[in-house]
Amino acid sequence: MDKFTGTMDAARFRGQSEHAITSTDCDTTEGTQMAAGLEDLFGQERPGEPDEAEGELKRALVVAAHPDDADFGAAGTACLLARAGWEVRYIVATDGSKGSDDPSLTPAQLVELRAQEQRDAAELLGVASVGFLGFTDGELTASRELLEAIVREIRTFQPFAVYTHDPEPVIIRDSFVNHSDHRATGLATVDAVYPAARDRLNFPEHIAEGLPAHKVRELCLWGANEPNLQIDITEVVETKIAALVAHTTQFDSDDAFLEQMRTFWRDDEGRYREAFRRIVLFR
Ligand SMILES: [Zn+2]
Repeated sequence: MDKFTGTMDAARFRGQSEHAITSTDCDTTEGTQMAAGLEDLFGQERPGEPDEAEGELKRALVVAAHPDDADFGAAGTACLLARAGWEVRYIVATDGSKGSDDPSLTPAQLVELRAQEQRDAAELLGVASVGFLGFTDGELTASRELLEAIVREIRTFQPFAVYTHDPEPVIIRDSFVNHSDHRATGLATVDAVYPAARDRLNFPEHIAEGLPAHKVRELCLWGANEPNLQIDITEVVETKIAALVAHTTQFDSDDAFLEQMRTFWRDDEGRYREAFRRIVLFR
């Protein structure tokens, strides 16, 4: 069960022709689904749940390097969490300004188009909001500035769980180079979760502004060489694929592409899974 873990870059999948794709929304307004616990939607392998009596919130923050990375890595899981009544927020570290070979597009046009594509994908999934940190595509480092921006997001949103790129592999499963922006985003996000967002003396200006220090309880990393959590996304795999296809500057939606996508996430039993390296942090 060692399927694709969501780390390829878009250019690999650009196809030839286009036609519309339809999908079933992850509609979070359906009353029967709003109250569902994770065991009903996720089955045996599932992420942890907040202790609401302890003030923990059903919130997940997904931190991605580029528009579309969150959808590769965690769209199915995000969609299932939204169905379970969680608030899911995406943030995208870079502006995506280098992600096109089309000479008719300026970088500024591309930034605008890709931001809208990410919003469209998020809407399909039931992701509540999308934020853009605006760092330059292809030039990201795990800088103090990036760390501060992610810590601010964590302290503002107060997520129970944070999902991001695994920063450790340079080469993933002897198959893919882990883009430098992915590694920088993953590393800064891990550092933001622990210890920076947790300790009030890190970025004390946030505390002075009224943002509380925040303890994230769970960290889930996609693109891991040794995942320890396989989320069954079979129920929502078509919505995940629709979210990817929403990135129209990156992907076409011909049948070959759609089948290629399904194959990436399908296991030997015909189930579709997103794989994560899950770390539970101390209270
Ligand atoms: Zn990427």
